[in-house]
Amino acid sequence: MAIFEPLADISGGRRKLKLTNPATLEEIGELECQTKAEVDAAVAKARAAQPAWAALSLDERINYMLKLRDEMLKASDEITETVIRETGKPPQDALTFEVYASCDFLSYWCKQAKKTLKDEKLKPGGLLGLMKKVVMTYKPLGVVGVIAPWNGPFVLTANPSIQAMLAGNTVVCKGSEVTPYSSKMFETLCQRAGLPDGVCQVLMGDGETGSYLTSSGVNKVSFTGSVATGKKIAAACSETLTPFTLELGGKDAMIVCADANVDDAVHGAVWGGCVNTGHFCCGVERIYVEAPIYDEFVKKAAEMAKSLRQGQSHGVEEDVGAVFWDRQMSIMESHVEDAKAKGATIHTGGQRNPNEKGLYFEPTVMTDVEEDWDVMQLETFGPILPIIKVNDVEEAIAKANDSNYGLHGSVWTKDKEKGLAIAKRIETGSMAVNDIGMMYGVACAPFGGVKESGMGSVNGQYALRGYTHPMPIVMGAYRGQDSGYPHDQKKLDQMNWIMNFMWKNPIGRFFFGP
Ligand code: NAD
Repeated sequence: MAIFEPLADISGGRRKLKLTNPATLEEIGELECQTKAEVDAAVAKARAAQPAWAALSLDERINYMLKLRDEMLKASDEITETVIRETGKPPQDALTFEVYASCDFLSYWCKQAKKTLKDEKLKPGGLLGLMKKVVMTYKPLGVVGVIAPWNGPFVLTANPSIQAMLAGNTVVCKGSEVTPYSSKMFETLCQRAGLPDGVCQVLMGDGETGSYLTSSGVNKVSFTGSVATGKKIAAACSETLTPFTLELGGKDAMIVCADANVDDAVHGAVWGGCVNTGHFCCGVERIYVEAPIYDEFVKKAAEMAKSLRQGQSHGVEEDVGAVFWDRQMSIMESHVEDAKAKGATIHTGGQRNPNEKGLYFEPTVMTDVEEDWDVMQLETFGPILPIIKVNDVEEAIAKANDSNYGLHGSVWTKDKEKGLAIAKRIETGSMAVNDIGMMYGVACAPFGGVKESGMGSVNGQYALRGYTHPMPIVMGAYRGQDSGYPHDQKKLDQMNWIMNFMWKNPIGRFFFGP
């Protein structure tokens, strides 16, 4: 994590931040924030490198990415150690969500790019279809700015960057000031993989450095982070009409129907709420349980949450790691204290872990909470599970939809058809039935929020194509363009006849449309 250190001796105009390991509270170094001039220089370097990178064949770019995957696998320990030092994640979370996920995304995109980025032929409808063809080509945009948050610092730098690079763009990334070296690792590995200089650069800095990148003339901004910053990015991009995608916060609802397998749902809730210390954009943040199984669900969820082990003394057997940032700790504590003051029942947790020196918050299960409290309305982003009893599914759906967020969510029932029908009624970007929050990891699916949770998709073919300009090229008929001049009554009559034939005559309709 980073703590602001307003140093007087700012070197070369760079602000300095002090970096601290949240698990041990030991100082682990400093971050010097790059200046506007340095950001502009990085973008200029990326722009100079882009034509040669785009001129490579897709297979050549894929080969570079496969070398990058080799380097990621080779450096697996190095990546996880860097991430753990900056975030206090348990080794399991660091390996799975940073290294495995990055390799998995890379492999998927390399395979998918051959289909998604290759030229296509389109056949126009109507009369144009008799005379012309359209070739679609997917042109790189140029230089892409990638801005990443701290909860998945390596993978959230890697995933958009790999897509952008495969599509022929060069990238300039800016990792979070909370986890700068975890993002920087991605640049180091690109260099080790032999990527040409300037194809992938990772800037070091805070929000101000990020704002320089947004307004540096990049051809697209791919942003992952909070709603508040997302709105600033949207405003800055609108000044220059720079395209952008926003992957923002969530307040995912979990609906547990009376016919659900309670044990499965409890595992889903506790894992979905506590994985990555609850710093998970599609983590479980609100739970609505139908009355008949409510008591059993609460009891089992509390037992399981209580059993989770915290602290680095557990080594690889640590279940729930540190809170990555002191500012997030303050947000979590304020939501929990607000709920306690208003009368919530805390079944387990509800406080910092008193046995740990670092920033640890105990996995928390609470009930007797109201829909309009902070813990049910604002993104808590911690291992905190507020549970509400509902009379029926209709009440659960209404409550799930009563949110400014709409990123992900889940429904639990043994009746899959019913689950699907409920999922379709939730106002959110994606849903799961009897599953939890792996949506971001499903590379083939277009992951993106509605309402305040974002704009655009980070995954699926839309995301990959989003790093291109889909350029249609109309190919004229072999005899070339007939001007149609001079206009006269006979040509008007012919046009009328043709229209009537195409859409009133059964033979015409067979060929030209229903
Ligand atoms: P944040 O918005 O504070 O910061 C994100 C990044 O933006 C950082 O690199 C930061 O330095 C930079 N930044 C800050 N101000 C900026 C500005 N004015 N211009 C340009 N860049 C600026 O978010 P965070 O606290 O780092 O991340 C946590 C948030 O990210 C949570 O809300 C979480 O839900 C969300 N998130 C969403 C997804 C998703 O896929 N939807 C994934 C992970 C995290």
